[in-house]
Amino acid sequence: MDSNLNSMIKFNVAYIKLLTKIEGPFNRCCIWFQGCNINCKGCGNPDLQALKPNHIVTEDELLNIVLIAKDKYKIEGITLTGGEPSLQVGLKHFNSRIHELGLGIIMFSGKTKDSLDEELVNSVDLLIDGPFLENQIDRDRILLGSKNKKLHFITDRYTKEEDYFNLSISREEVVAEDYIFINGD
Ligand code: SF4
Repeated sequence: MDSNLNSMIKFNVAYIKLLTKIEGPFNRCCIWFQGCNINCKGCGNPDLQALKPNHIVTEDELLNIVLIAKDKYKIEGITLTGGEPSLQVGLKHFNSRIHELGLGIIMFSGKTKDSLDEELVNSVDLLIDGPFLENQIDRDRILLGSKNKKLHFITDRYTKEEDYFNLSISREEVVAEDYIFINGD
């Protein structure tokens, strides 16, 4: 894809943390996308469900934000969540550019792996899939929400990090978290 097309790919972003340790193992930059059409009862991010423009950013702009996090916080990778990341057209290409930077990718999706575009699935390192089911609250694992959600290690990048999701590991020591808000059109 040429650079002109890169600047035409746009994403609907709600907010971004430049540094977090609670959205997956290691230092991460986390991107919350706006919009989800799954409507889980008890959704933890109801404000991100609306399918409306929030901060509209180009692929290059989003990549530059990740680069700031990489330079400033030495992030190991990014986490994609929302909202429903798979609604973002162009995410596969963005992910390929993230991998070119040597960064890892964890993606949450309310859809199951089998219902997602295969190329999108293969563009991440770890997929955490499935809707949030209020009647299956998971009290043994962090971040995942409900017991139906599965960790799919698409590459071996995070296979040794499965313990991160065990609740027995405290996250209280988490310190710096740096948010960035984007003025988009
Ligand atoms: S998939 Fe996630 S963002 Fe979408 S409704 Fe379910 S819990 Fe909320």
